[in-house]
Amino acid sequence: MNQEQTLAAILESDELPTLPVIASDIITLTAGEDTCLSDIDNLVSKNTDLSVKILKVSNSAFYSFPQQIRSIKQALSILGIKAVRSLVLSFSFLTMKAGKKKGHFNFENFWNKSLAGAVASKLILERVKGANSEEIFICGLLQNLGELILARTFAEEYEEVLKKLKKGQYDALNVEEDAFGTFHPTIGYEVAKSWGFPEVLLLPILYHHDPSLYKGRDTEIETNTKALYLSDLLISILYSDKPEEFYKRFTGEAKTLLGLKNKDVEHILNEIHIQIDQAGEYFGMRIKNTNSIQEILQESNIRLSLTSLDFEQMNKELIRTKVEQASLSKELDAKNKRLASLPNMDELTGIYNHHYFQNALENETSRAIRNERQLSLLLIDIDHFKKFNDTYGHQAGDFILIEFSRILKENIRRYDTLARYGGGKFTVILPDTNAEEALAIAEKLRETVDEARFEENREEYHITASFGVASVRPGAIDKFEKSIFISQADAALYEAKKAGRNRVVIHAAKKKWSDF
Ligand code: GH3
Ligand code: MG
Repeated sequence: MNQEQTLAAILESDELPTLPVIASDIITLTAGEDTCLSDIDNLVSKNTDLSVKILKVSNSAFYSFPQQIRSIKQALSILGIKAVRSLVLSFSFLTMKAGKKKGHFNFENFWNKSLAGAVASKLILERVKGANSEEIFICGLLQNLGELILARTFAEEYEEVLKKLKKGQYDALNVEEDAFGTFHPTIGYEVAKSWGFPEVLLLPILYHHDPSLYKGRDTEIETNTKALYLSDLLISILYSDKPEEFYKRFTGEAKTLLGLKNKDVEHILNEIHIQIDQAGEYFGMRIKNTNSIQEILQESNIRLSLTSLDFEQMNKELIRTKVEQASLSKELDAKNKRLASLPNMDELTGIYNHHYFQNALENETSRAIRNERQLSLLLIDIDHFKKFNDTYGHQAGDFILIEFSRILKENIRRYDTLARYGGGKFTVILPDTNAEEALAIAEKLRETVDEARFEENREEYHITASFGVASVRPGAIDKFEKSIFISQADAALYEAKKAGRNRVVIHAAKKKWSDF
């Protein structure tokens, strides 16, 4: 689409907002040189609702006139015809409703932001010596009128434009021009012209994105255009996601374009959020608690430093983990070496080995004899472990041996001795434990193993084990031999396997000790 086609489509579209009667009347009335004050007074005063609103704003801090303005006539003489016209137009536009087409364009946001633009333009211009700020408000309010017109007339196409802009790396005017052959300043200008707006209002709208394009000699238009341009930067500090960037541009260009001093810039930056909220109230818009520029910059600073901190922390964390890993694997190596060098430990599972078990059983027997205590022994064997290895691999088997040892260890008493007997077979010496207690302990272990799910590399394994229990009072036996004692437990284990596995069998004392 080229500019001509776009403009024709817009001006013929039924989506083009019609100017409220009062607005178009006031434009007609103020178009000529010989504007009559009483005509305007009549026109505005007729509309009571509007008059009340205008008087409210006229008497507010927005104008800060020392004397009370009681009538539109007074307002016209004190504020000026153009200021009153500006207010009439502002109220007309701010009460304008969204068009028929429903898109993602947020009309409320648009007018809120426009009002902020109007406030910003006025605030800026008020710091320029000798500038006439009567019309700046409506210029500021309508500077982006073209965006609204585009969104209403070409809802779908404009949505595409917004999508591109959201991605951030595009310039708004270029994207608009690609899509429509023209951009919003020109469209706003043309539409307002069709409504009969005077040049003093039109040209700032047309050139607000680049004041250097205005080649005329009217200083009011020139200054207003620059104020609009700066207001856009100021508003972008508040509403864009790059506040620092716009802050730098605004503070720099406010000085070069309009010759503002540091204290002027500071005043504007300190005041803007307060005045936006106030204007919101006067014009009946839902604007509240606009953040101050100081807050916005602080927040943005924190955000920036947080992001870099996050990165640093992430780095630190990574390094820490790496160091930890290195020292862990070193530690593990050392542990394994130590284990290997220790004659008592099983290298794979970290529990006692067979050699240690034999010595421990010897010691516990002596103690039981000394103390005349009962001694019990468990022999535990993982069921079908060969098959497990065949199915899941030797490594998974190793993992099971480690986990199985851990579970046993966690479920026995501190003074019990757990050892790997060999292969998939384990043993527990239970000092000072009678047959009944030993059975209970074995049963609890069996259940715990049966209920356990061993997870590794997203695989879940389940195993069972069979238990053989032997219990003896070594001091009561003539010729106690620990090998016999072990054989009894082993025989019970064999029974458990034979009976179907995953069970506990106690060696029945039916055979005489000497029969073994
Ligand atoms: P059962 O129910 O009759 O006990 O059947 P099983 O297959 O468990 O038979 P058994 O107890 O005789 O087999 C022990 C198996 O344990 C043999 C071997 O495959 C496995 N095994 C022994 N030591 C290790 C080890 O250090 N790591 C692994 N992964 N497997 C081992
Ligand atoms: Mg086995």
